[in-house]
Amino acid sequence: MRPVENPESRPSTILIVDDRPANLELMATELEAHGYIAVVAQGGQEAIERARFVKPDLILMDVLMPAMDGFETSRRLKACDSTRDIPIIFMTALTDTAQKLTGFAAGAVDYVTKPLDGAEVLVRVQTHLTLSTLRQRLLAQNEQLQREICAHEQTQAALLRSNTELEQLAYVASHDMQEPLRMIASYLQLIEQRYTEKLDDDGREFIGYAVDGAKRMQALINDLLAYSHVGTKARPFVPVDCAAVVDTALQHLRVAIDECHARIECGLLPLVSGDTSQLVQLFQNLLANAIKFRGSASPAIRIDSEPCGADWCISVMDNGIGIDPEYHERIFVLFQRLHRRTQYPGTGIGLALCKKIVERHGGRIWVERAPTQGSVFRFVLPRINVDACT
Ligand code: ADP
Repeated sequence: MRPVENPESRPSTILIVDDRPANLELMATELEAHGYIAVVAQGGQEAIERARFVKPDLILMDVLMPAMDGFETSRRLKACDSTRDIPIIFMTALTDTAQKLTGFAAGAVDYVTKPLDGAEVLVRVQTHLTLSTLRQRLLAQNEQLQREICAHEQTQAALLRSNTELEQLAYVASHDMQEPLRMIASYLQLIEQRYTEKLDDDGREFIGYAVDGAKRMQALINDLLAYSHVGTKARPFVPVDCAAVVDTALQHLRVAIDECHARIECGLLPLVSGDTSQLVQLFQNLLANAIKFRGSASPAIRIDSEPCGADWCISVMDNGIGIDPEYHERIFVLFQRLHRRTQYPGTGIGLALCKKIVERHGGRIWVERAPTQGSVFRFVLPRINVDACT
């Protein structure tokens, strides 16, 4: 039988404790013949000292010894940090169950009965060394896991802090920029109106560009503010009727819907747990995009829902220009747009805002190709928690 190596890959050391030198000699010879390092002690006190010094991988201990018996020796070894984890196998002629239980209570992992059978002792020694090695590995892995969890939690906390700071920065910057921008836009318009006679065509064109730039900047700031509000102006979740939320979003989009004769169908929509104004914003952005990115045909949009495990999956399907699967992830990133401003106006914030809202609700959002033409945006929202309604 191959001797078991401990985690450091050295031969295992066995401390044999017995008051009879002949027994010690016999066991030591047997163990050494099988590649173990045998260390001996002739009594309880000596065993404790040896164990502290040698740190054996396992102890084979006689029970009946003068001065300090095996049970007491075991108790003392278990009470000391440096020897607590060393597995102890008792060698005894005792067959009484109560005595054996006393031994287990004193910290034994096993028994071998005297007169000893060398082969049996070796099997038990090897089994307990393997168990001990596995236990140590498990403990080390557990510690490593704990360290990783701790590091992960610290990173999460740091991320949360920097996200909050970033949100505050975006909020303050956007908020403070609004006023000077409004001033630039209104004075440019004033110049345009009051001095139009004095300006030549180039002058009027340049002012037009400047006003357009200021307006775009205004739209960008408004969208950025909305984006930062998801975190800073979050309201607690309440039961929300998605059908009512869609109605509100449609009212906000009434002009755009009428202008392009969009047809919007809505299936049964659920009650979810959420923040009403953020959900209005979510539907509004998706519907506005479904209208904006229309193809040559009038927009036909369908809103549906279906149960999805413990949640609801809601879909907004359009018949628009569609999105190349290559960009299915990228479009949810802040400022990512697939078209030039002259083709389709926008700031590239709408879908990032949708993602942030859905994630704040504990869900996820993604896009797929529609079966025939266009795109289907799907998102998962939490089912209503019955307790939250009462
Ligand atoms: P914006 O609409 O301001 O450009 P979004 O974040 O809402 O920004 O959308 C990002 C990009 O995703 C859009 O520029 C567009 O290319 C693409 N997109 C979004 N919704 C649709 C849609 N329903 N159909 C086709 N393309 C879309």
